[in-house]
Amino acid sequence: MQQPLTQQRLRAGVPASRLRQQRLVVRATATADPTRQDIRREALARGPAAGSELFNAKFVPFKDYRSSDGGLLDVYHDMKELSKFGPDYWKSLFDSRIGTTTWPYGSGVWSKKEWVLPELGDADIVSMFEGNSNLFWAERFGREALGMSDLWVKQCGNSHTGSFKDLGMTVLVSQVNRIRKLKPGAISAVGCASTGDTSAALSAYCAAAGIPSIVFLPADKISLAQLVQPIANGALVLSIDTDFDGCMRLIKEVTAETPIYLANSMNSLRLEGQKTAAIEILQQFDWQVPDWVIIPGGNLGNIYAFYKGFKMCKDLGLVDRIPRLVCAQAANANPLYSAFKKGWEHYEPISAKTTFASAIQIGDPVSIDRAILALNDANGIVEEATEEELMDAAARADRTGMFNCPHTGVALAALTKLREKGVIAPSDRTVVVSTAHGLKFTQSKVAYHSKEIAGMACSYANPPVAVKNDIGSVMDALRSKFPAI
Ligand SMILES: *Cc1c(COP(=O)(O)O)cnc(C)c1O
Repeated sequence: MQQPLTQQRLRAGVPASRLRQQRLVVRATATADPTRQDIRREALARGPAAGSELFNAKFVPFKDYRSSDGGLLDVYHDMKELSKFGPDYWKSLFDSRIGTTTWPYGSGVWSKKEWVLPELGDADIVSMFEGNSNLFWAERFGREALGMSDLWVKQCGNSHTGSFKDLGMTVLVSQVNRIRKLKPGAISAVGCASTGDTSAALSAYCAAAGIPSIVFLPADKISLAQLVQPIANGALVLSIDTDFDGCMRLIKEVTAETPIYLANSMNSLRLEGQKTAAIEILQQFDWQVPDWVIIPGGNLGNIYAFYKGFKMCKDLGLVDRIPRLVCAQAANANPLYSAFKKGWEHYEPISAKTTFASAIQIGDPVSIDRAILALNDANGIVEEATEEELMDAAARADRTGMFNCPHTGVALAALTKLREKGVIAPSDRTVVVSTAHGLKFTQSKVAYHSKEIAGMACSYANPPVAVKNDIGSVMDALRSKFPAI
């Protein structure tokens, strides 16, 4: 189905002796040109971080997967080696790397390198210093809309291409970069099917590394900003007359028969990068565990990635528990929600209906089994949001200074419902994961604020007031809103 992701490949696929030789070669060039010490060369000269020869990660079959041809793999870390270093070591190591420009640790993902892909050489990493995103205290929204005092929004969309997909893509493209160096010709290009954000991230990281990329997009189902990103980054963009699930089927066929590497989130390398957002949340709270983390879910890789990040911190003793997880789905694309309502007895893929939360318009999620495992272990729940609920929630929170994408709207709407039902208490420390930047989704926001959405009241719309070019009209307009002036 995809390139065989052998353990050997993940472990770099080369004997250590050859790696050392390579390092020496690059070092020799570095000294030949001492005026050009860039941060990548500095990393090479510095050599691997302490203990890194002990750590390793490998692909193992995902333990719960149902069908043998499903091909889901998981990255397994040698926890015994990692645990030898103790929680305080890891906390201070991770803390020491924040805010630096040291290659590659200036990245929020690679600052956790030992837990992500320990054996990858620093020089092979393709990074844009992603991660380290703001944890926003939603003070006014929490207090006024929900009566909450401890509500936070993890702004994963404040990122290079505007979504959390950067966190996973840096890992995947780095590994591809390595394989291409070791075996020229093994991978001629990297391809993905996408609801928009994956293709933006893939094409940007590939462009940075000089690797060709190919994206399969469902025609007319993604935002303009998402469409223009891979175009600008020079990817081959195929706009296909189908939906995401259709694109996914096609790219799987293509990658099965060609040396094109599949970059979709069934590829567990991406989840290794995404899981660092969970570790980051704990770090930002000074290793205090929040009560709830709410994540919008479509293909369901991210909910599992967050679970993995939290679980790893618990297993290595950095925290003593994991937060309860909520997966928030659009009611128009809710196969996980339906299965949850039936007590996980019965799961059935659906044909997803159109939703403004276009990145989660997925009826047949690849990582369904991963998500169920995560939710079961994290005492998790699934909530859903209608189109009106998600647009209202995003708009209402925008009025308190945010600028939310519709997916974040799904998570905020789920939170609102769980507060109303009393499941989440006013004092519970709660983190909503914002998955993309609102600026990628201006079309739907414009439609909402223009009250142009059929069948939707658009209760929080704030349309601009058209005013004639004279002072009287301007004053009238001002007084209609502020009678006192
Ligand atoms: C990809 C994406 C999601 C869904 O993540 P999954 O891992 O597919 O569940 C949610 N929001 C945005 C903005 C995304 O790009």
